[in-house]
Amino acid sequence: SSVFANIVRAPEDPILGVTVAYNKDSSPNKLNLGVGAYRTEEGKPLVLNVVRRAEQMLVNDNSRVKEYLPIVGLADFNKLSAKLIFGADSPAIQENRVTTVQCLSGTGSLRVGAEFLAKHYHQLTIYIPNPTWGNHTKIFTLAGLSVKTYRYYDPATRGLDFQGLLEDLGAAPSGSIVLLHACAHNPTGVDPTNEQWEQIRQLLRSKGLLPFFDSAYQGFASGNLDADAQSVRMFVADGGECFAAQSYAKNMGLYGERVGALSIVCKTADVASRVESQLKLVIRPMYSNPPIHGASIVATILKDRDMFNEWTVELKAMADRIISMRQQLFDALSAKGTPGDWSHIIKQIGMFTFTGLNTEQVAFMTKEYHIYLTSDGRISMAGLSSKTVPHLAEAIHAAVT
Ligand code: PLP
Repeated sequence: SSVFANIVRAPEDPILGVTVAYNKDSSPNKLNLGVGAYRTEEGKPLVLNVVRRAEQMLVNDNSRVKEYLPIVGLADFNKLSAKLIFGADSPAIQENRVTTVQCLSGTGSLRVGAEFLAKHYHQLTIYIPNPTWGNHTKIFTLAGLSVKTYRYYDPATRGLDFQGLLEDLGAAPSGSIVLLHACAHNPTGVDPTNEQWEQIRQLLRSKGLLPFFDSAYQGFASGNLDADAQSVRMFVADGGECFAAQSYAKNMGLYGERVGALSIVCKTADVASRVESQLKLVIRPMYSNPPIHGASIVATILKDRDMFNEWTVELKAMADRIISMRQQLFDALSAKGTPGDWSHIIKQIGMFTFTGLNTEQVAFMTKEYHIYLTSDGRISMAGLSSKTVPHLAEAIHAAVT
């Protein structure tokens, strides 16, 4: 008999498992609103033109080889990634107080940051919003941090529980780490206003809490890269420490290339260089060094003014299509007179709408309408199109009446 005879079957991932179920459904009307990946109006995955162009340039450049990258990744990529999130004129960058390492997309950046903190930081408690992206708890727990939650979403208003957030973070032990979604909070689509961010910043700094930003949607929320980085830049502008995990999965459509970066903003250049030396010790035994292709695509685009501009236009088109899906779904429910207030669909920001539908209603929509979404009622607006909005509106209407 097998030495693994007693292995217990693990449950499917709550998010990726939605796609597994979707793939098994043979209905022609099936609709996958589970996974957070952009789709065109035709329901197809999208490779940006500027990405195709960059890849062509890389292929045609015969001087390019496949040697290992350094442990910290591609130097150009790291510099340009820091500039993208902190701003071209960021004093922290000019003063060499930032260390940036290329990592395996957003997930890998979070994990490397978490492993570094678990090894070198004095306070091992991290506060994450309730709710949050399901992988956060697992990433931080497995790295050895102790995960606590702070109030974030208020189901009654389908908006931010700002008072609850301030109370919970206000009561956190000094030095605690605080995970913040830079923009387009997943799964709720609810972000603090700039005034609220300023209050959060003051609270964190006055209590000596350490901000760790997860930036998976820069440019995807508003269509503007600078606007979507405002929260992070407010924290860096005050001269304090800050972590930022960046992903190029959504905003450059590089999902499977696994390209991202972890930046740690320190108070002096000397500390930053010592921090970087320790990040290398975290990375080396995990995967030695990161892959070259995706980071080369990103660096090619970010360092060329024309390509950068072309990217921003394509990025805005994706953001605008999502915003238009919000309006169309809201209009369709209004036209049907579906009971309840659905204005949160157009108020929420980013890739997802947190519908407020409960587990039973979600199960009903999957069974009767072949619509697949996570059981918390989150729908990926990027998976919708003008053609599929009526089907979804009908299903929501039936689920709540
Ligand atoms: N953080 C949040 C909030 C996300 O929604 C995602 C992706 O869905 C990620 C991080 C990381 O994604 P990836 O590892 O594909 O960059």
